[in-house]
Amino acid sequence: MRNVVIIGSGCAGLTAAIYSARANLAPLVIRGLEAGGQLSLTTLVENYPGFPKGVQGPELIELMQKQAAEFGAEFLEGNVTRVDLSQRPFRLEVGDDRIETRTLVIASGASAKMLGLESERKLLGYGVSSCATCDGYFFRGKPVAVVGGGDTAAEEALFLTRYATEVSIIHRRDQLRASKIMQDRLRRNDKVKFVWNSVVDDVLDPDKREVTGIKLRNVSTGEHSVKPIAGLFLGIGHRPNTDLFRGQLEMNEVGYLVTHDGSKTNVPGAFAAGDVQDHIYRQAITAAGSGCMAAIDAERFLEAEH
Ligand code: NAP
Repeated sequence: MRNVVIIGSGCAGLTAAIYSARANLAPLVIRGLEAGGQLSLTTLVENYPGFPKGVQGPELIELMQKQAAEFGAEFLEGNVTRVDLSQRPFRLEVGDDRIETRTLVIASGASAKMLGLESERKLLGYGVSSCATCDGYFFRGKPVAVVGGGDTAAEEALFLTRYATEVSIIHRRDQLRASKIMQDRLRRNDKVKFVWNSVVDDVLDPDKREVTGIKLRNVSTGEHSVKPIAGLFLGIGHRPNTDLFRGQLEMNEVGYLVTHDGSKTNVPGAFAAGDVQDHIYRQAITAAGSGCMAAIDAERFLEAEH
């Protein structure tokens, strides 16, 4: 029987692990399919406090994991395949392993939706990014493109205009889904260009390990073209990793867990932290902060039970 099990090993899960390990609760962290979370998909992180010269995302994650292990956190490779929150202790299945726990911290994150191209996967972190706030700075004085027509794409594009010479919005239709105010901001910005009715068929050039351009297809005319760019940003949305909790925990209309009074879910003893419950800020530091909150909430919950 565990005191605290943490699902997810991004910065929310690892911060929760550091705090609950220091509280002598010997947490078990289940690392998950995308171990290390979104930070491990990026390169230089320049906005995480304490690193004036920046820190590589994977290195930051490794440091957090070491810190948690130092205080006694344990780690399990694997992915949770089933959760039963209907009674306590909660029951989890990780492949063939069965785990029981008094409290659960859910930090399973959100995954940026990808286009599904092989070249896109190979160039992730080498010019393909799903986070303008993280990576926009690297494209100073260069042209970039953003795929998508919703608020995420609009926000990414506007942020990128601070650095890039030109920001092309590649959208598969001829109308944006983004809110009116965001659309107005985009249209007022001279750096923003729209490429309507178009999809990205390929990203160039995986052999050079950098983005040199994108192959576009106009879905109305069937016309093909190549657009030279230095960075491709995916703004086609995120998907919270909450399928396991459907029907068990309260979620909003797009599947993010709903928390109240800090990190509490609607099930006593189950707490949520990081991007799995936050579609607004989605920063490493805010995820880490909420991981700390979840660990403290779990600790207090256990204390109150004694
Ligand atoms: P979204 O509204 O679902 O928009 C996704 C966009 O990507 C759509 O324009 C969609 O095209 C396009 N798309 C999806 N899959 C694609 C694919 N495979 N290939 C090409 N294009 C694809 O997602 P979101 O922009 O992340 O927004 C999610 C929610 O969060 C929304 O409610 C939004 O308002 C909110 N949000 C708010 C803010 C803010 O208030 N500051 C910021 C970000 C997000 P179609 O239009 O053709 O479907």
